Amino acid sequence: MSKVVDEWMGRLKGKLKPVGEMTHWERMAAAFELKPTDMVPVAPELDYWQITYAGYTHPEIYNDVDKTTDACIRTWADLRTDAIWMYVDISHQIEHFIPAEKRPEHFIHRGPNDYLLFKPIAKTLDEAIALYEERTFEKYGPGSRPATHYTPHMLQLLEFQEKMDRVVPIIVGIGTPSNFAETIVEVQKFVRWTITEPKAKLKHYLDLALGERLEALDFYAEHARKNGCEFVCLFGGARTWGPKQLEEFGYADKAFVDKAVKIFPHVFWHICGHNLPQAMEALTRWDGIQAVQYDMPYYSQKLSWPEWFESVARLFAGKRCAMNAPTTQLACHGTAAEVKAMVRQFIECTLPHTTAVIMPGCEIDSFSPLENVKAMIDTAREHRS
Ligand SMILES: [Zn+2]
Repeated sequence: MSKVVDEWMGRLKGKLKPVGEMTHWERMAAAFELKPTDMVPVAPELDYWQITYAGYTHPEIYNDVDKTTDACIRTWADLRTDAIWMYVDISHQIEHFIPAEKRPEHFIHRGPNDYLLFKPIAKTLDEAIALYEERTFEKYGPGSRPATHYTPHMLQLLEFQEKMDRVVPIIVGIGTPSNFAETIVEVQKFVRWTITEPKAKLKHYLDLALGERLEALDFYAEHARKNGCEFVCLFGGARTWGPKQLEEFGYADKAFVDKAVKIFPHVFWHICGHNLPQAMEALTRWDGIQAVQYDMPYYSQKLSWPEWFESVARLFAGKRCAMNAPTTQLACHGTAAEVKAMVRQFIECTLPHTTAVIMPGCEIDSFSPLENVKAMIDTAREHRS
């Protein structure tokens, strides 16, 4: 039982005005299952943004789980999005690979509202392989932020989800094998190695990353699923992989997905950055993923936004729910009118083919103006499907 959740229960339970005919949970679940919804669901990834919205700074919440959870619930209570994203930063993902005394040099807070910066943990492929072979994540796990911050925060939000009778789902974010393999050494390096390093060696590294991630899924089955978690975002790496790399190295993510979808009923894939049509296509073949949070077209694709939205929607027809709009850049630097226009465009191009969720391709920048976040919510609410 947590005090912060109980305080919010006192303020919210039985006092919430309904939004539309469906609950937030029902709306998200229906879109994921490719069924009609009363309104287009809207669930922007607010993880960093909600901290500053709620009046906290990032350094302030870094070691304060209650304030982190408070920020997420406060933001939801005000804006009533169709899901609550738990707060996740890079330290939650990789701090258990780093000895305690070395952590300060790997994670840096630049300013009160800035992202947490980090430095890669391994420089060479041999170093990266050794991190896994020596199971450093086990050695340094206890006392690291996945255990001391991420997990208690997740449990508090799931407690809120259950006590509120599942009116709104919590989205738990989980890193995938490709995401870890890339993050530990830096994305560009890993992608270069797919060409320059011996295939067998790279596969060995990827297999080790997969092994650790499959073990992590056992943890999530025990601590997230058993506490009510149903909606899961798989943070994919591999966002710049070409068809050949996907064919050679995509197996690790596929094996991870196979296990994740057996544990959780509503799984979606997050692929941010510049996406290739081949990557979108691969995601329609990985059984069990219900939705894809995709981003912008790859540089070489000379497509307008409506063309890109429509081509993805056609690809996803009968298979996946499409999640996008506006871009994270527009959400931060555009006007509310531009945000509105792009959300409308996405809805109009997508709904003829499949279901849609308003959800920019990546997390909303901490500096994005409130009126832009409100504009995306209001536009979704206007649109009855
Ligand atoms: Zn992203």
